[in-house]
Amino acid sequence: MDRILNQLIQLQELNFVLSEQRTLVPKSRLTDLENSVKELITNLPQEIAILYRGLQERHHHQAAVVPEAHGTCSGCGISLPTSLAAEIRTGKGIQQCPNCRRILYHLEGAPRQLRKRLEQTGRPRAGVARFSSKELMLPLIEREDRDDAISELIQLMATKGFVENPESLLSSALRRESIISTSLEHGLAFPHVRGVEGGGLTFSLGLKKQGLKFGSPKGRLTRIIFFIVIPSAASVFYLQLLSGLIETFREDSARKKILACKTSEEMWTALTTLTQKTIP
Ligand SMILES: [Zn+2]
Repeated sequence: MDRILNQLIQLQELNFVLSEQRTLVPKSRLTDLENSVKELITNLPQEIAILYRGLQERHHHQAAVVPEAHGTCSGCGISLPTSLAAEIRTGKGIQQCPNCRRILYHLEGAPRQLRKRLEQTGRPRAGVARFSSKELMLPLIEREDRDDAISELIQLMATKGFVENPESLLSSALRRESIISTSLEHGLAFPHVRGVEGGGLTFSLGLKKQGLKFGSPKGRLTRIIFFIVIPSAASVFYLQLLSGLIETFREDSARKKILACKTSEEMWTALTTLTQKTIP
C-alpha cells in the first residue's frame, strides 16, 4: 500500500485511541500517544496533513480515512465509480470519495462482517440486543493468555457466522493492544478492531473467573472481556456503547452477577437486565 496512505491509517488509529482514552480515563496521561500523533503529522507531506485535518473537522473527528468495501465508500455508503474503485485497489496515491471526500483505501484480506444476523429476526431491537446476542456470550474463556483469550472471542464470532477472516481480525486486535492496552479498572477489557465493514457494531463477551493478565495497571487481573468489531461509520455508537458498559460494570454487584453466570443464556439475561438503563 501507498506509504502515505499507510501513515494516514496509523495516524487515524492513534487519534481514535486518544479520543477513546480521553472518554474512558479522563485524567490519564497520554503524552506518548500525543507525541506519536505529532510525529506522524509532521512526517506527512504538508498538503496531505491539511487535507486530513480538514476531513477530520468536516466529519466531527469521525473516520476521515475509510475502507472501500464492495465498490462502496464505507464512510457514506455511496457506490463508487468502477474506475475509481479499481484505482483504489491498486493502492497507489490518495483517492477520495466523490460524495463525502473521505480518503479511501483497500485492504486485501481485511476482516469483514457477514450479513448481520442480528438483523434477521424481523422485529426492531432495543438496548444491548442491537449489538450482541445470546450466541456471542462465552461463560468460560479456556486459555490463560491475553492473546488466546481474544482469539477465543473472535473464533466465537466467526463460528456463529458474524465475521470472516478471524486470523486477520486477531492480528488487527493485537496491533491495537500494542498501542495502549484496552484493559481498564474493575477487571474489564475492551479489545476491538475498527473498520470491519459489512454489518453493524457487534460484540462478544467472555468471562475468565479466576482472571488473566491483560496489561491493566498495577498487574491487576482482568475477568470480563468484550471483543468489539466497529464499522467505520459506527465510531460514535462505539463510544456510547463503551460508556454504557463501563457505567454498568463499574458496580461491584453487576460484576458479581455476570461472573456468577454459568451458561450463555444466563449471561445474556444478566447482561440485558444490567444494561437496561445504561444502554437504552
Ligand atoms: Zn463517501
